[in-house]
Amino acid sequence: MNFHQYYPVDVVNGEGTRCTLFVAGCEHQCRGCYNQSTWSLCSGQLFDQAMEDNVIADLNDTRIKRKGLSLSGGDPLHPANVAAVLKLVQRVKRECEGKNIWLWTGYTLAELSDEQREVVQLIDVLIDGKFEKDLADPSLPWRGSSNQTVHRLTES
Ligand code: SF4
Repeated sequence: MNFHQYYPVDVVNGEGTRCTLFVAGCEHQCRGCYNQSTWSLCSGQLFDQAMEDNVIADLNDTRIKRKGLSLSGGDPLHPANVAAVLKLVQRVKRECEGKNIWLWTGYTLAELSDEQREVVQLIDVLIDGKFEKDLADPSLPWRGSSNQTVHRLTES
């Protein structure tokens, strides 16, 4: 998997202070997408073991307390990203006690494959659905258009 941006301290992508990773690769081609540079799986740079370790260390850094990890893109549930994202979220759940995970995807919850659902089972908040330009509303919290849904999957 490749990624475009990693913010070790972020307060705009999800509730609370967070670590946020924007991965590369998206097949939805939404009209009006602000992140077209992330569509290619080959764009950005490699999310290697050192980067994965870095994210885990940041989440456990007690000097700046983070509420959790946010995963966006691109699409973290692009079939080519699922294995790497699953490995990362499994580590967060195992090694980062009390941290929640938010994930943005262009797929809807109803259309996810078994592999994608394996990731979602470990997610606390899922924002799903393509960005629909005609339904865009900047006043909506955590989503760009009204067809998208914020699924709070856990109490976290
Ligand atoms: S799902 Fe997101 S990144 Fe992908 S095309 Fe749509 S708006 Fe852009």
